[in-house]
Amino acid sequence: MSKSEQLFAEAQRVIPGGVNSPVRAFRAVGGTPLFIRRAEGAYLFDADEKRYIDYVQSWGPMVLGHAHPEVIEAVVEQAQSGLSFGAPTELETELAEELCRLWPNMDLVRFVNSGTEATMSAIRLARGFTGRDKIVKFEGCYHGHSDSLLVKAGSGALTMGVPSSPGVPAALADHTITLSYNDAEGVRSCFEALGDQIACIIVEPVAGNMNCIPPVPGFLEALREVCDQHGALLILDEVMTGFRVSLTGAQGFYGIEADITTLGKVIGGGMPVGAFGGKREIMEHIAPLGPVYQAGTLSGNPVAMVAGLETLRLVEEPSFYEPLVARTNHLVEGILAAGKAAGIPITANKAGTMFGFFFTEEPQVTNYQQVIACNNQRFNQFFHGMLEEGIYLAPASYEAGFMSSAHSDEDIEATIAAAERVFARLD
Ligand code: PMP
Repeated sequence: MSKSEQLFAEAQRVIPGGVNSPVRAFRAVGGTPLFIRRAEGAYLFDADEKRYIDYVQSWGPMVLGHAHPEVIEAVVEQAQSGLSFGAPTELETELAEELCRLWPNMDLVRFVNSGTEATMSAIRLARGFTGRDKIVKFEGCYHGHSDSLLVKAGSGALTMGVPSSPGVPAALADHTITLSYNDAEGVRSCFEALGDQIACIIVEPVAGNMNCIPPVPGFLEALREVCDQHGALLILDEVMTGFRVSLTGAQGFYGIEADITTLGKVIGGGMPVGAFGGKREIMEHIAPLGPVYQAGTLSGNPVAMVAGLETLRLVEEPSFYEPLVARTNHLVEGILAAGKAAGIPITANKAGTMFGFFFTEEPQVTNYQQVIACNNQRFNQFFHGMLEEGIYLAPASYEAGFMSSAHSDEDIEATIAAAERVFARLD
């Protein structure tokens, strides 16, 4: 019995499913989740000290790789001055200034502790600001697990077969309108019928929770246009794409203006941090300036703030993204070529430092229906084959992959060589 098997059995006695976030349980792919002892750069080490090249990177935050020495040093130093004060610190202002300087249309920003809190609060703000109840989201997009957003959701909700969770009151779910990602016409006709009741559209500007689906040309532009026409707000959920697709996320890359932006993952450098920010006249509706309530005992936590500050300092260095994106492209091209050489129908999407593979005959995957029609059994075989080879991919086919600056060219070559061997063994 491996150490992970033993630890998983113990965990299941006291934690539902043995995990604190469902996809970690390996339910979709079968087998035992790796229990991690430590991580360094591009590598994870499991409880048996086996090394894996990691393309999950804690589901996105570790764009510098794990345990970056400068981030760890800043965290340790800050921890010695106290873990939490429940009172303001200058560190919060520093990180807020950094975000407001970098992100277009971010005049004010509020820190929270997770992406879930960021999107939940952004939606409350949009409802409070507009005085409207309905929200529009897209099938397969995941925005955390708050009630209004667990309707036809992606990520673990989709993997576990409960995209619309029990426990969400029907009266609330009725206010969530779910449309098809990358279908601008569907959005236009929805707004023609209900535009004056819709508070906001919330969207992943590159969908990363139904594998990786970039927006087709014109889709994000159409969202901006209907929001402007009908007095609704556009919330770009960049929890995953922020500092991943580019330094200024997907909105910088595609040139789309958000009314409210939600951030998380990279801005906390691996510590629990989320944020929502936007135009001054909207953000001024948040307490204590305005009546829309939002709060948090640990929000703006000093240790988390320094992890974020140090991470952003490093990613802002000139030419940080260029080699990272080149390495992502190299990995994707290499695996595609290996699959094709082995006669495996496979395609891929990529956006900056995010990527995803699809086992399908289709030349291009741009929507949810195509994603769920992919060959999951083949993905599962591929996943386990790669795991045996020491390559850690997300343990579900509806997740994106992530590159870090710690991945070397040798790591990429080793991953492509492993994929060649695994493809040769697939049915
Ligand atoms: N929004 C997006 C786009 C996400 O990808 C996620 C998590 N993967 C969330 C929100 C929720 O963030 P958290 O898990 O930190 O609550």
